[in-house]
Amino acid sequence: MLQITNLHATVADKPILKGLTLSLNAGEIHAIMGPNGAGKSTLGYVLSGRPGYEVTEGSVTFNGEDLLGMEPHERAAAGLFLGFQYPVEIPGVSNVQFLREALNAQRKQRGEDPLSGAEFLKVARAQADAMGMDMDMLKRPVNVGFSGGEKKRNEMVQMGIIDPALAILDETDSGLDIDALRVVGDGINRIMRKPDKAVLLITHYQRLLDYVKPDFVHVLADGRITRTGGAELALELEEHGYAEIAA
Ligand code: ADP
Ligand code: MG
Ligand code: MG
Repeated sequence: MLQITNLHATVADKPILKGLTLSLNAGEIHAIMGPNGAGKSTLGYVLSGRPGYEVTEGSVTFNGEDLLGMEPHERAAAGLFLGFQYPVEIPGVSNVQFLREALNAQRKQRGEDPLSGAEFLKVARAQADAMGMDMDMLKRPVNVGFSGGEKKRNEMVQMGIIDPALAILDETDSGLDIDALRVVGDGINRIMRKPDKAVLLITHYQRLLDYVKPDFVHVLADGRITRTGGAELALELEEHGYAEIAA
């Protein structure tokens, strides 16, 4: 599904990714772990096409297509979803408006008919119910006044509505208490643990991986993958630290 080959990228002319190679098949959940400043978020931003992140070498294909040649909205329409470490607040725009527009823009790009308000609300209600979120919250402005846990729950509802093929979740566990962590873990499993979907889970800590068991764990250090293993590698990292394992 996703093939990253020898990816080099700079931010403000500073080389951050330095020859990163990684491939993900449908049906797989991959965790990327690594020390602060290693380039984990940069990888997520490069894959989503965020301005300011310049690819200087290498290639990325998504379902055989050149991902780097696609505009950010084309990447989303092709099935890529990026969950941020710090979800944005959008005053004046309700979750329902925002998500219906996002979903319909993607459907249009794919040549599908837009969902009517009623059809969309049905989808939204099912996802809100599945995440134990009150519909009133979905009618409020995007993330405004939401607690950290509520933002993450909201992100899972967003992901459920968008129903992406590939989710890249960057430190989606940061700042969560154990209950919220379970909610997010259950959401990822319910929405994304499917034969035709894949997840790239970027995390600094092992604890989310107690809820979402990865098929592969990669260590990202100094802009490249320095080690790959199974779920047990995360436990090893937790015990021994990155300095010993990643070097
Ligand atoms: P991680 O997510 O692994 O902690 P990041 O990808 O956020 O790492 O950052 C990697 C490196 O890129 C860090 O040294 C960081 O300071 C630098 N960096 C990230 N964004 C910018 C930016 N906008 N301008 C300059 N340097 C940046
Ligand atoms: Mg960081
Ligand atoms: Mg980061």
